[in-house]
Amino acid sequence: MNAVDIVDFKKEYRGGTVAVNGLSLSIKQGEFFGLLGPNGAGKSTTIHCITGIASITSGSIQVYGIDVVADYREARKKIGLSPQDFNVDIFSKVWQILDYNAGYFGVPKEKRATRIEELLERFDLTSHRNKAFQHLSGGLKRRVMLARALVHDPDLIILDEPTAGVDVEMRHDLWRYLRELNELGKTVILTSHYLDEVELLCDRIGIINNGKIVALGDKGEFIKEGDRLEQTYMKITKGEKWSGSTA
Ligand code: ADP
Repeated sequence: MNAVDIVDFKKEYRGGTVAVNGLSLSIKQGEFFGLLGPNGAGKSTTIHCITGIASITSGSIQVYGIDVVADYREARKKIGLSPQDFNVDIFSKVWQILDYNAGYFGVPKEKRATRIEELLERFDLTSHRNKAFQHLSGGLKRRVMLARALVHDPDLIILDEPTAGVDVEMRHDLWRYLRELNELGKTVILTSHYLDEVELLCDRIGIINNGKIVALGDKGEFIKEGDRLEQTYMKITKGEKWSGSTA
Protein backbone atom coordinates (compact mmCIF):
# COMPACT_ATOMS: atom_id res chain seq x y z
CA MET A 1 0.00 0.00 0.00
CA ASN A 2 1.26 3.48 -0.83
CA ALA A 3 1.17 6.40 1.58
CA VAL A 4 -0.50 8.56 -1.07
CA ASP A 5 -2.24 7.70 -4.33
CA ILE A 6 -3.47 10.61 -6.42
CA VAL A 7 -5.24 9.58 -9.62
CA ASP A 8 -6.20 12.00 -12.38
CA PHE A 9 -6.92 14.71 -9.84
CA LYS A 10 -8.46 17.94 -11.04
CA LYS A 11 -9.36 21.06 -9.09
CA GLU A 12 -11.32 23.89 -10.58
CA TYR A 13 -12.15 26.75 -8.24
CA ARG A 14 -15.43 28.61 -8.35
CA GLY A 15 -14.82 31.32 -10.90
CA GLY A 16 -13.19 28.88 -13.28
CA THR A 17 -9.48 28.79 -12.32
CA VAL A 18 -8.17 25.31 -13.02
CA ALA A 19 -5.49 24.99 -10.35
CA VAL A 20 -4.69 21.31 -10.89
CA ASN A 21 -5.40 19.59 -14.15
CA GLY A 22 -5.12 15.81 -14.25
CA LEU A 23 -2.42 15.11 -11.69
CA SER A 24 -1.46 11.51 -10.89
CA LEU A 25 1.16 10.75 -8.27
CA SER A 26 1.98 7.96 -5.84
CA ILE A 27 4.18 8.37 -2.80
CA LYS A 28 5.54 5.28 -1.09
CA GLN A 29 5.45 4.67 2.64
CA GLY A 30 8.53 6.06 4.33
CA GLU A 31 9.49 8.31 1.45
CA PHE A 32 10.75 11.85 1.93
CA PHE A 33 9.11 13.52 -1.05
CA GLY A 34 9.73 17.04 -2.31
CA LEU A 35 6.85 18.78 -4.07
CA LEU A 36 8.13 21.75 -6.02
CA GLY A 37 6.81 24.30 -8.45
CA PRO A 38 6.62 28.04 -9.04
CA ASN A 39 4.02 30.21 -7.30
CA GLY A 40 0.56 29.39 -8.58
CA ALA A 41 1.62 25.93 -9.83
CA GLY A 42 -0.95 24.09 -7.71
CA LYS A 43 1.08 22.82 -4.74
CA SER A 44 -1.10 24.30 -1.99
CA THR A 45 -4.27 23.27 -3.79
CA THR A 46 -2.97 19.69 -3.93
CA ILE A 47 -2.09 19.76 -0.23
CA HIS A 48 -5.47 21.29 0.61
CA CYS A 49 -7.25 18.54 -1.28
CA ILE A 50 -5.16 15.77 0.34
CA THR A 51 -6.05 17.18 3.76
CA GLY A 52 -9.71 17.87 2.96
CA ILE A 53 -9.45 21.66 3.32
CA ALA A 54 -10.57 22.05 -0.31
CA SER A 55 -12.92 19.84 -2.32
CA ILE A 56 -11.79 17.75 -5.28
CA THR A 57 -13.44 18.50 -8.63
CA SER A 58 -12.66 15.09 -10.15
CA GLY A 59 -10.28 12.17 -9.76
CA SER A 60 -9.36 10.55 -6.46
CA ILE A 61 -6.92 10.85 -3.58
CA GLN A 62 -6.18 8.07 -1.11
CA VAL A 63 -4.00 8.26 1.97
CA TYR A 64 -2.80 4.87 3.23
CA GLY A 65 -5.58 3.32 1.17
CA ILE A 66 -8.29 5.57 2.64
CA ASP A 67 -10.28 7.80 0.31
CA VAL A 68 -9.94 11.42 1.49
CA VAL A 69 -13.49 12.30 0.39
CA ALA A 70 -15.54 9.18 1.18
CA ASP A 71 -13.77 8.59 4.48
CA TYR A 72 -12.58 12.06 5.34
CA ARG A 73 -12.18 11.68 9.11
CA GLU A 74 -10.18 8.45 8.95
CA ALA A 75 -7.95 9.78 6.18
CA ARG A 76 -7.35 13.04 8.04
CA LYS A 77 -6.21 11.17 11.15
CA LYS A 78 -3.38 9.67 9.11
CA ILE A 79 -2.06 13.14 8.25
CA GLY A 80 -0.11 15.69 10.22
CA LEU A 81 -0.06 19.10 8.55
CA SER A 82 2.41 21.85 9.24
CA PRO A 83 0.89 24.70 7.24
CA GLN A 84 2.65 27.66 5.73
CA ASP A 85 0.53 30.14 7.69
CA PHE A 86 0.46 30.08 11.47
CA ASN A 87 -3.21 29.18 11.81
CA VAL A 88 -3.25 29.23 15.60
CA ASP A 89 -4.67 31.37 18.35
CA ILE A 90 -1.62 33.56 18.94
CA PHE A 91 -2.61 34.15 22.58
CA SER A 92 -2.58 30.42 23.37
CA LYS A 93 0.33 28.90 25.23
CA VAL A 94 2.47 26.30 23.52
CA TRP A 95 1.11 23.37 25.53
CA GLN A 96 -2.48 24.55 24.99
CA ILE A 97 -1.99 24.52 21.22
CA LEU A 98 -0.80 20.91 21.39
CA ASP A 99 -3.54 19.93 23.81
CA TYR A 100 -6.24 21.46 21.63
CA ASN A 101 -5.12 19.50 18.59
CA ALA A 102 -4.81 16.30 20.59
CA GLY A 103 -8.44 16.78 21.63
CA TYR A 104 -9.49 17.57 18.08
CA PHE A 105 -7.95 14.33 16.82
CA GLY A 106 -9.42 12.26 19.63
CA VAL A 107 -6.23 11.42 21.52
CA PRO A 108 -7.62 9.93 24.77
CA LYS A 109 -7.33 12.32 27.72
CA GLU A 110 -5.14 9.96 29.76
CA LYS A 111 -2.61 9.74 26.91
CA ARG A 112 -2.57 13.41 26.04
CA ALA A 113 -0.29 14.69 28.80
CA THR A 114 2.41 12.09 28.10
CA ARG A 115 2.22 12.67 24.38
CA ILE A 116 2.53 16.44 24.80
CA GLU A 117 5.50 16.07 27.15
CA GLU A 118 7.23 13.79 24.63
CA LEU A 119 6.75 16.29 21.83
CA LEU A 120 7.82 19.29 23.91
CA GLU A 121 10.99 17.41 24.71
CA ARG A 122 11.65 16.17 21.19
CA PHE A 123 11.40 19.69 19.77
CA ASP A 124 13.25 21.33 22.66
CA LEU A 125 10.17 23.29 23.62
CA THR A 126 9.89 22.27 27.26
CA SER A 127 11.19 25.58 28.58
CA HIS A 128 8.75 27.44 26.30
CA ARG A 129 5.65 25.44 27.18
CA ASN A 130 3.93 28.27 29.05
CA LYS A 131 4.76 31.03 26.59
CA ALA A 132 2.09 32.52 24.36
CA PHE A 133 2.61 31.71 20.69
CA GLN A 134 2.83 35.39 19.78
CA HIS A 135 5.94 35.81 21.95
CA LEU A 136 7.96 33.05 20.28
CA SER A 137 10.68 33.59 17.67
CA GLY A 138 10.05 32.47 14.07
CA GLY A 139 12.06 29.27 14.55
CA LEU A 140 10.20 28.33 17.73
CA LYS A 141 6.86 28.98 16.04
CA ARG A 142 7.83 26.55 13.28
CA ARG A 143 8.78 23.96 15.91
CA VAL A 144 5.39 24.34 17.58
CA MET A 145 3.73 23.82 14.18
CA LEU A 146 5.71 20.61 13.74
CA ALA A 147 4.93 19.35 17.23
CA ARG A 148 1.26 20.16 16.70
CA ALA A 149 1.24 18.25 13.41
CA LEU A 150 2.50 15.16 15.23
CA VAL A 151 0.29 15.17 18.28
CA HIS A 152 -1.98 12.38 17.01
CA ASP A 153 0.97 10.32 15.73
CA PRO A 154 0.13 10.52 12.01
CA ASP A 155 1.85 8.31 9.43
CA LEU A 156 2.05 11.04 6.80
CA ILE A 157 3.47 14.46 7.54
CA ILE A 158 2.90 17.32 5.14
CA LEU A 159 5.22 20.28 5.57
CA ASP A 160 4.33 23.40 3.65
CA GLU A 161 7.34 25.72 3.77
CA PRO A 162 8.36 24.55 7.25
CA THR A 163 11.46 26.75 7.44
CA ALA A 164 10.03 29.99 6.04
CA GLY A 165 11.26 32.94 8.10
CA VAL A 166 13.69 30.86 10.13
CA ASP A 167 17.35 31.79 10.65
CA VAL A 168 20.17 29.53 9.45
CA GLU A 169 20.91 27.87 12.77
CA MET A 170 17.27 27.10 13.47
CA ARG A 171 16.87 25.73 9.96
CA HIS A 172 19.61 23.21 10.70
CA ASP A 173 17.77 22.19 13.87
CA LEU A 174 14.55 21.79 11.90
CA TRP A 175 16.29 19.64 9.29
CA ARG A 176 17.54 17.38 12.06
CA TYR A 177 13.99 16.99 13.44
CA LEU A 178 12.62 16.26 9.99
CA ARG A 179 15.28 13.63 9.32
CA GLU A 180 14.57 11.98 12.66
CA LEU A 181 10.86 11.80 11.87
CA ASN A 182 11.55 10.19 8.53
CA GLU A 183 13.95 7.73 10.17
CA LEU A 184 11.13 6.78 12.55
CA GLY A 185 9.22 5.64 9.47
CA LYS A 186 7.04 8.67 8.80
CA THR A 187 6.29 9.53 5.21
CA VAL A 188 7.08 13.18 4.56
CA ILE A 189 5.89 15.55 1.85
CA LEU A 190 7.86 18.77 1.81
CA THR A 191 7.23 21.92 -0.17
CA SER A 192 9.91 24.56 0.06
CA HIS A 193 11.30 27.48 -1.84
CA TYR A 194 14.73 26.60 -0.47
CA LEU A 195 15.97 24.12 -3.05
CA ASP A 196 19.13 23.35 -1.08
CA GLU A 197 16.84 22.10 1.67
CA VAL A 198 14.92 19.87 -0.74
CA GLU A 199 18.16 18.58 -2.24
CA LEU A 200 19.47 17.75 1.19
CA LEU A 201 16.41 16.05 2.63
CA CYS A 202 14.29 14.48 -0.11
CA ASP A 203 14.63 11.03 -1.71
CA ARG A 204 12.29 11.77 -4.57
CA ILE A 205 11.08 14.98 -6.15
CA GLY A 206 8.09 16.02 -8.21
CA ILE A 207 7.79 19.35 -9.98
CA ILE A 208 4.37 20.81 -10.76
CA ASN A 209 3.78 23.56 -13.26
CA ASN A 210 0.41 24.86 -14.41
CA GLY A 211 -1.38 22.16 -12.45
CA LYS A 212 0.47 19.22 -13.96
CA ILE A 213 3.48 17.13 -13.01
CA VAL A 214 6.28 18.15 -15.36
CA ALA A 215 9.08 16.12 -13.77
CA LEU A 216 9.21 13.26 -11.31
CA GLY A 217 12.12 11.15 -10.21
CA ASP A 218 14.69 10.16 -7.63
CA LYS A 219 16.80 13.03 -6.42
CA GLY A 220 19.77 11.63 -8.32
CA GLU A 221 18.02 12.30 -11.60
CA PHE A 222 17.79 15.99 -10.76
CA ILE A 223 21.42 16.42 -9.77
CA LYS A 224 23.11 14.51 -12.59
CA GLU A 225 26.29 15.72 -14.24
CA GLY A 226 27.19 18.08 -11.43
CA ASP A 227 24.02 20.15 -11.70
CA ARG A 228 22.43 21.37 -8.50
CA LEU A 229 18.72 20.84 -8.03
CA GLU A 230 18.21 24.58 -8.46
CA GLN A 231 19.72 24.54 -11.97
CA THR A 232 17.63 21.57 -13.07
CA TYR A 233 14.54 23.13 -11.53
CA MET A 234 15.11 26.39 -13.43
CA LYS A 235 15.51 24.54 -16.71
CA ILE A 236 12.37 22.50 -16.19
CA THR A 237 10.16 25.37 -15.07
CA LYS A 238 11.39 27.45 -18.03
CA GLY A 239 10.08 24.72 -20.30
CA GLU A 240 13.21 22.75 -21.14
CA LYS A 241 12.43 19.11 -21.86
CA TRP A 242 12.86 16.74 -18.92
CA SER A 243 14.45 13.44 -19.83
CA GLY A 244 13.02 11.53 -16.84
CA SER A 245 9.53 10.45 -15.95
CA THR A 246 6.39 12.53 -15.40
CA ALA A 247 4.16 9.78 -14.04
P1 ADP B 1 1.03 27.16 -5.29
O1 ADP B 1 0.76 26.62 -3.95
O2 ADP B 1 1.84 26.22 -6.15
O3 ADP B 1 1.61 28.54 -5.27
P2 ADP B 1 -1.87 27.33 -5.54
O4 ADP B 1 -2.38 25.96 -5.38
O5 ADP B 1 -1.95 28.25 -4.37
O6 ADP B 1 -0.34 27.27 -6.08
O7 ADP B 1 -2.61 28.06 -6.74
C1 ADP B 1 -2.88 27.44 -8.00
C2 ADP B 1 -3.84 28.32 -8.76
O8 ADP B 1 -5.12 28.32 -8.12
C3 ADP B 1 -3.41 29.78 -8.85
O9 ADP B 1 -3.81 30.26 -10.11
C4 ADP B 1 -4.21 30.43 -7.74
O10 ADP B 1 -4.46 31.79 -8.04
C5 ADP B 1 -5.50 29.62 -7.77
N1 ADP B 1 -6.17 29.56 -6.46
C6 ADP B 1 -5.62 29.10 -5.30
N2 ADP B 1 -6.51 29.15 -4.30
C7 ADP B 1 -7.66 29.65 -4.84
C8 ADP B 1 -8.98 29.93 -4.32
N3 ADP B 1 -9.29 29.69 -3.03
N4 ADP B 1 -9.90 30.42 -5.17
C9 ADP B 1 -9.61 30.65 -6.48
N5 ADP B 1 -8.40 30.39 -7.02
C10 ADP B 1 -7.44 29.90 -6.22
